[in-house]
Amino acid sequence: MCRRFRRSFEAVLAFLMLIATVRGASAAVTPAAHAAAYLERIRSDRPLLMHFLERMPKGADLHHHLTGAVYAESYIRYAVEDGDCIDGTTFAIVAPPCVPAEGRYPASRALSDFAFRSRTIDALSARDFTPSPADPDIRLHFFAAFDKFDLVTNGHWGEMLAEVVARAAAQNEVYLETMLTPDQGAAMHLAQTVEWSDDFSELRRRLLAAGMATAVAAGRRNLDAGESAMRAILGCGTAHPDPGCRLTLRFQYQVLRAFPKTSVFAQMLAGFEMASVDSRVVAINLVQSQDEYNALNDFGLQLRMLDYLHGIYPRVHISLHAGELTPGEVPPEELRASHIRASIELGHAERIGHGLDVVYERDAPGLLAEMARRHVLVEDCLYSHELVRGMRGRDNVLPIYLRAGVPVALATDDEGVTRADLTTSFVRAIEGYGIGYVRLKTMVRDSLDHAFMPGASLWQAPENFVRVPACARDALRDVPASRACRSFLAANERARTEWREEVAFARFESAL
Ligand SMILES: [Zn+2]
Repeated sequence: MCRRFRRSFEAVLAFLMLIATVRGASAAVTPAAHAAAYLERIRSDRPLLMHFLERMPKGADLHHHLTGAVYAESYIRYAVEDGDCIDGTTFAIVAPPCVPAEGRYPASRALSDFAFRSRTIDALSARDFTPSPADPDIRLHFFAAFDKFDLVTNGHWGEMLAEVVARAAAQNEVYLETMLTPDQGAAMHLAQTVEWSDDFSELRRRLLAAGMATAVAAGRRNLDAGESAMRAILGCGTAHPDPGCRLTLRFQYQVLRAFPKTSVFAQMLAGFEMASVDSRVVAINLVQSQDEYNALNDFGLQLRMLDYLHGIYPRVHISLHAGELTPGEVPPEELRASHIRASIELGHAERIGHGLDVVYERDAPGLLAEMARRHVLVEDCLYSHELVRGMRGRDNVLPIYLRAGVPVALATDDEGVTRADLTTSFVRAIEGYGIGYVRLKTMVRDSLDHAFMPGASLWQAPENFVRVPACARDALRDVPASRACRSFLAANERARTEWREEVAFARFESAL
């Protein structure tokens, strides 16, 4: 469907909804139809569109890398606080001593020297990227940024969490799953003391015996410290708490998949162990660029590890970066290697991130149908795909998944490195792909329904958005009128969060 046709299709749909509701028994326009028609009227008016989208309830951000989400300005501040230096050639943050004669300047220079500060921010993010012989590829520049601020990340979780949570709440998000390494590398160190075994149960036994419980305990302490520093910064529990205090924050244990196999297994085991005893850690995810050598070479092995560990820890959720490859980046055989299908069928992924190479998979229509049937949600990092992968317009995969009926949620990926936020992706969805309000609202609802939250859903079945009988007749108020609905919500965190979001939608739509 061409863009112009899609746009007019959305407009006609919104108009028909308006007519249908006007002709209905109540002869009143429903707030949702009103919002849909309103969005079509302001689609081309940037200031009004931004105002609309900033206020719109946005549900959950389900694909969010903590270190990639923090802005460069914050990393510079941490470097100054820690007495670190900035390399005058690469603009990476490096450990002291700072020796200007050798090109290592005190990080404080990035506070007073505007040109130095600007070049540091550009190096720590994708801001103002222009290809040059020394820095020719935005994808390499993007991934290199993570190494350049790595030194200051582990010591500042409280500030980092406060930044991302406050930003999410300011855009009316209510739930965030962020990826990080809770034990800050303890499981990887443990792997260095253990010999590899092709027998996963033997390898697991060796790692547990070598002290995995210590790594897990360290991870939980790190999360405790990070969250309590975050709450102090946000003023939670005070008379004037930041709105971020109300946001539900959960963690995914990120496994660095470009590392050697013993390390990858140890990280996975740490993640499964931690998620089994700490309800804040809700899932495992494999991160790092999929075309890194070990990530591609050990792809099948890593999925077999997940398959084995899933058998032991079946209640721990799995989301995977799958199909994060584009034509030309890898040989065609890799594109056809069914990474997405294998991640779902062997890796037990309940959601996938990116899914960029879906059309190159063997039997792509069959795969899309399977994803729709199994309700495997795609975490679509729309802006990141456009910026870092150059997937704009007809090259972008968003319309493909939507047409196939696969649930999709918009996500930020690395909002600090890409210099964006979730609202940016909502704007791009509307301006770039003809998405309308009804579709956008569906994606928001799907984000909460596929979040790794405990409890039953408010909806009778995935993607149908018909309320369960207990709450079917209740008006959308903070506290539902019926006792049946109140007790259903009290018993189910997911339904409770979804109910709150429906109330927020009702307020948003009727205030337009
Ligand atoms: Zn990612």
